[in-house]
Amino acid sequence: MPIVVQKYGGTSVADAERIRAVAARAVTTQKSGNDVVVVVSAMGKSTDELITLASEVTPNSHPREMDMLLTAGERISMALLAMAIEDHGIGSMSLTGSQAGILTTEEHGHAEIIGIRGDRVREGLAEGKVVIVAGFQGFSPETRDVTTLGRGGSDATAVALAATLQADVCEIYTDVDGVFTADPRLVPGAKKLKEISFEEMLEMAAAGAGVLMARSVEFGRRYNVPIHVRSSFHGGVGTWVKEETMEEAIIRGVAHDVSEAKVTVHGVPDSPGLAAQLFEPLAEAGVSVDMIVQNVSRDGVTDISFTVARSELNTAETVAKLAADAIGAAGVDVDHNIAKVSLVGAGMKDELGIAGKMFRILSDHGVNIEMISTSPIRISCVVRGDDVAAAVQGLHDGFALGEES
Ligand code: ASP
Ligand code: MG
Repeated sequence: MPIVVQKYGGTSVADAERIRAVAARAVTTQKSGNDVVVVVSAMGKSTDELITLASEVTPNSHPREMDMLLTAGERISMALLAMAIEDHGIGSMSLTGSQAGILTTEEHGHAEIIGIRGDRVREGLAEGKVVIVAGFQGFSPETRDVTTLGRGGSDATAVALAATLQADVCEIYTDVDGVFTADPRLVPGAKKLKEISFEEMLEMAAAGAGVLMARSVEFGRRYNVPIHVRSSFHGGVGTWVKEETMEEAIIRGVAHDVSEAKVTVHGVPDSPGLAAQLFEPLAEAGVSVDMIVQNVSRDGVTDISFTVARSELNTAETVAKLAADAIGAAGVDVDHNIAKVSLVGAGMKDELGIAGKMFRILSDHGVNIEMISTSPIRISCVVRGDDVAAAVQGLHDGFALGEES
């Protein structure tokens, strides 16, 4: 029997009525001849609320207990959904990540899936049940503790489960209709994509398109699991994320990210090994660095700027200041008000002039570029935070992304 993995995000299970709607969809999918596994997120904004609650109890970080706390969110939605499915006269069973055999590394808050045992899931399916798995969580065989996979991690649970079960499709149900050429909140004329390649989706996700967690797309690509991103509010076709797309677009979309901040280390002596002395301790402190720009050196010193998630800015600043002192740099500055805008498209690797056109459009809209980074299929610019809407709208229009292709 075909196996379908369906993942429902927080808005899709936000209240009792929505949970009953999800149950009805899962039941219909099973009745039309599929084995169905459902992965759920926590209801509505409950993960955020739990984080706020913890911060009211303590200013300190308690990684293990934080994971115990946050995994409770998904436990609530999975149990309620199982009840709603059983009310249709269909067997159902909810499993925590650890019961489902989702094995992870040991880092609390951002563990990675290293394997899935999945026997209880298979047993449940063999008994004709709709099996529900709590998203975003697993279990470290090393520490025997419960872990979480990072924000948005239910996507990774779903795609990794789909890969393990060799599912025919992993459906990601969400509150938008699919993946768009740009965020429709910024660009009303943004168009829903029929399809996008894993490679492009990975770049879009890493560039801030929030619709899918980047790591889930990596699983999809590695194990070739087709992902269908679609709305949980209606049954319409969404966006297919897959290996090959029918048409190769030069530019598939514009993504933006306002969640990063910039750190600049001034007056770094220009000699071998100093960049390593800055970035090694950042890595040891668990800070993940995105863009890095080193300026041309003048008078034997240079400035190095890099961007990090704003949530890691305090750590990054502390570590950078210590490193700056150690290497004799002049000082450290942080800048909260930045945004990153990115153009993504697999066809740009065979096309001349995309970067020039992008920079021209930004300048025509009065947007100054502060940092640039590229991959073969992406160009990203850091701009002032206040310029993000102008930049995204300008690029979307300038590359005619809203027009029917
Ligand atoms: N509930 C978790 C979060 O809000 C995981 C998820 O929704 O994917 O990040
Ligand atoms: Mg999500």
